[in-house]
Amino acid sequence: MSQYEKKDPIGLYPAPPFPKQDQSLPGRASKMDPKPDHGETSYVGRERLTGFRGIVTGADSGIGRAAAIALSREGADLVLSYLPDEQEDAEEVRDLLEGEGRRAILKPGDLSDEAFCFELVAAAVEELGGLDTLVMVAGHQESHDDILEMTTEGIDNTFKTNIYSLFWLSQAAIPHLEPGSSIVTTGSIQGNTPSPDKLDYAVSKGAIGTFTAALAQQLAPKGIRVNSVAPGPIWTPLQPASGDPETVSHFGEGSPYGRPGQPAELGAAYVHLVSPESSYTSGTTITIAGATPNY
Ligand code: NAD
Ligand code: MG
Repeated sequence: MSQYEKKDPIGLYPAPPFPKQDQSLPGRASKMDPKPDHGETSYVGRERLTGFRGIVTGADSGIGRAAAIALSREGADLVLSYLPDEQEDAEEVRDLLEGEGRRAILKPGDLSDEAFCFELVAAAVEELGGLDTLVMVAGHQESHDDILEMTTEGIDNTFKTNIYSLFWLSQAAIPHLEPGSSIVTTGSIQGNTPSPDKLDYAVSKGAIGTFTAALAQQLAPKGIRVNSVAPGPIWTPLQPASGDPETVSHFGEGSPYGRPGQPAELGAAYVHLVSPESSYTSGTTITIAGATPNY
């Protein structure tokens, strides 16, 4: 069933309770039960991004994998960023995209490292012959019930991965972006409606919304658009890798659909924001949360 066929969204995907499962960060898509749907068998491209050249961070799994599949099937050639531990997941994505005739170049590395962010962009420009699309999906999430348990190292890791990397990647990319290019960030409904155990993560996600709104204004005179996607609960390895098995088995239960979203339900939003059809869309956030409010 393609993304264009009419369907009832409620029963479309598995609902909790899910089997109890535990992973450590970074999680793996291949270890999840049920397996997430990234649009592998459903996303149909319509040549909306022919000739585009982009970077997708966090492209090995979850929402980033879904964004990479959707962008690639619309015609974009991509550099895929992920952590070295995620090599197997990343190779699965590369094999899929290359098997469909697009370029998909693997660049593992740590985005909490400034030098790597600049290297990643330089490598993409070199290998793709330029750059017009920067899609930042990577994110780090931990859970702590008590602020007194939190360490500077942990807070640094969250902020460097989720916020600093957006500054570094944008600084590296902007000199290469011509008018008509775009940047997409990935926030969260946690940015507006934080859970108490996601203190540093939620603060970082709130900052991503602010980053997007401010940078969009700064880059408007250059003809570069900047937008964000704010997901609600989505079935990805981030959840079993950062939450306890009991919570994960009920993940998404409280949302109005009674289930979490699947990564496949987000791919089209990234395409829409990158596509030139969105020429007057900048500084905005698309919430994808199955009717969960984001305010
Ligand atoms: P995921 O685990 O599949 O993706 C996160 C990715 O971030 C990893 O695959 C990894 O490649 C990357 N990453 C983490 N730390 C990194 C680092 N230091 N250097 C390089 N890459 C790093 O999970 P996901 O849920 O698809 O997460 C994608 C984005 O969506 C994140 O920004 C997350 O905050 C956001 N989000 C997820 C949910 C959800 O419920 N799953 C909800 C709201 C927002
Ligand atoms: Mg991953």
